[in-house]
Amino acid sequence: MTQAHPQDARMPVAVLGATGMVGQRLVALLADHPWFELAGVAASERSVGRPYAEAVHWHVEGDVPRAARALPLVSPLPGPDLPARVVFSALPAAEAARVEPEFTRAGALVFSNASAHRLEPDVPLIVPEINPDHLDALPAQRAARDWPGALVTNANCSTIGLTLALAPLARFGLRRVIVTTLQGASGAGYPGVPSLDLIDNVVPFIDGEEHKLETESRKILGSWSGNGFEDATIRLSAHCNRVPVREGHLECVSVELERRVAAAELVAAWEAFAGEPQRLQLPTAPIHPLIYRDEPDRPQPVRDRLAGNGMTVTVGRLRPCSVLDYKFVCLSHNTIRGAAGAALLNAELAYARGLLATESRIETR
Ligand code: NAP
Repeated sequence: MTQAHPQDARMPVAVLGATGMVGQRLVALLADHPWFELAGVAASERSVGRPYAEAVHWHVEGDVPRAARALPLVSPLPGPDLPARVVFSALPAAEAARVEPEFTRAGALVFSNASAHRLEPDVPLIVPEINPDHLDALPAQRAARDWPGALVTNANCSTIGLTLALAPLARFGLRRVIVTTLQGASGAGYPGVPSLDLIDNVVPFIDGEEHKLETESRKILGSWSGNGFEDATIRLSAHCNRVPVREGHLECVSVELERRVAAAELVAAWEAFAGEPQRLQLPTAPIHPLIYRDEPDRPQPVRDRLAGNGMTVTVGRLRPCSVLDYKFVCLSHNTIRGAAGAALLNAELAYARGLLATESRIETR
């Protein structure tokens, strides 16, 4: 078990893109965090200079946390306006591509939700229950980039739910996967898809999403060799759809396995699945990263997205597939497990491994 950080010595952190859908979730999740304290918030020129509570169009349940209300929004630049060495980035990809390296060059440890750097050969793309050892790439990253900070990324929102559902099946030899997503509106950020394009409708296109699902999943389920990341050899085909659901990404998945296994073995593998966040009892880790529901009509976004405070992926409807071997449905909360909670869990993992210690250089165990 990790040691609790004394409440009066919480580590200051900053959120970039703090007014967006993911940034708001981060602000909410950080409000009562035992190790981290929100010390700075950044957003676009539209918001700079305004108090957080005034500038934000708040979409999270409950009120803007008291500790964040009066924080002044600043530009996402390293310096005294953002007094934190640990930085959560919830910026659009184009902005993240430019800004995140400025922070790492200034010595910050950046935990990013953006896609900009996820597939770079020295950047860990972490789902902590699956590939915590990919943090071992950080010394190589620091050497290659010659920066004192570090950049750690979490995956696209639909990729995180999918890889958590797939990881326990790897022992049966995952060969091919076909996934069709039904993704909630908040996945497009705010204001996202115009309401008249989405209400009473399904949009069978999310720019870049299918490529992200296919490539990021292979990196996460792959390995770190000491010299580079090696993708899992699994073949994956994705169809992505935007649906008029507020939050929650449902995914219909068919898998082909190398071994013949009974359905009960798959369910047992999901139910027994746990990883380093559970062993370390990290503050944001759910007790069960995956749960399996037996009801014929579950999971559903409205009923299941807040399982494990939004950090548990719910799987159901396991049955034989007449084309591949099995098919099932999984559901994850896109702005919690799929984004803000994912970045926070990555930071907690790094903290528990001693990577965030103020004095120490960034080195893995
Ligand atoms: P969003 O709702 O559009 O929020 C974007 C945030 O970035 C806002 O705080 C915005 O500030 C700020 N911003 C925009 N342009 C900026 C600029 N030029 N300079 C500085 N700040 C700027 O987007 P989101 O859904 O939160 O997504 C944030 C990131 O997370 C994206 O990279 C996205 O791909 C990724 N992500 C999102 C989800 C999801 O479910 N939504 C899941 C996984 C990953 P203003 O309010 O001042 O405009």
